[in-house]
Amino acid sequence: MESVAGNLKLVQARVAAAVEKSGRTVADVQMIAVSKKQDSEKVRAAFDAGQTTFGESRVQEAKAKIPLLPSGVRWHFIGHLQKNKIRHALPLFELFHSVDSLALANDIERISSEEGMRPRVLLEVNVAGEGSKIGFQPDALVAAMESLLQLRRLEIEGLMAIPPLAPEAEDSRRYFVMLRELRDRIEREFRTRLPQLSMGMSNDYEVAIEEGATLVRVGTAIFGARAAVKATSRAELFEH
Ligand SMILES: *Cc1c(COP(=O)(O)O)cnc(C)c1O
Repeated sequence: MESVAGNLKLVQARVAAAVEKSGRTVADVQMIAVSKKQDSEKVRAAFDAGQTTFGESRVQEAKAKIPLLPSGVRWHFIGHLQKNKIRHALPLFELFHSVDSLALANDIERISSEEGMRPRVLLEVNVAGEGSKIGFQPDALVAAMESLLQLRRLEIEGLMAIPPLAPEAEDSRRYFVMLRELRDRIEREFRTRLPQLSMGMSNDYEVAIEEGATLVRVGTAIFGARAAVKATSRAELFEH
């Protein structure tokens, strides 16, 4: 577990350097350690080395893992949330990064009302357009925004995106800019505040921070390769 602590230090240092380059302070950017498909011992090693917040993409996996770890660990949900898992997920996660349709938002609203909860959420945007069908298309999000803002239970705090897999971190920059500009447009047109931008993963989090990310989701750079998955598409790889 030496390597997890060492990797974590390295990522933290790079995050700090990118934050400084972006003219902000470390308190402005939170790094989520993505622990999906990693065992609880590695999560504990990262927690012992100072990482407090972890990201999971499957409710079942998280339900099994969370009791194995100290209660001080904080959990974010970053995957596609299935309707039949909402009720289980609500008490487990402090932030849902990936509300990817109006239908899902409506279901979360209804169940949150029944459960007396006020979940914090981000809206997932399909910045690439073609390819993955997951997330709101930018124009569809603008069109859905009025309905979304009427959901009184949801604390909508910002936007999230997973750009297409690219060989170079720089290739992701235009998608990060796109997400930030979409956020700015929605803030203007709907007179609302969407302070959070969840963007950037192991291969491109520094670029994401330069472009305004407030949350970066870093998995393999901290924990190493995940248990092998039989993925036939990038969408499957990300549990969507
Ligand atoms: C798996 C995953 C990550 C982490 O990816 P790495 O390349 O391992 O850093 C980030 N965000 C989401 C939504 C994921 O599913």
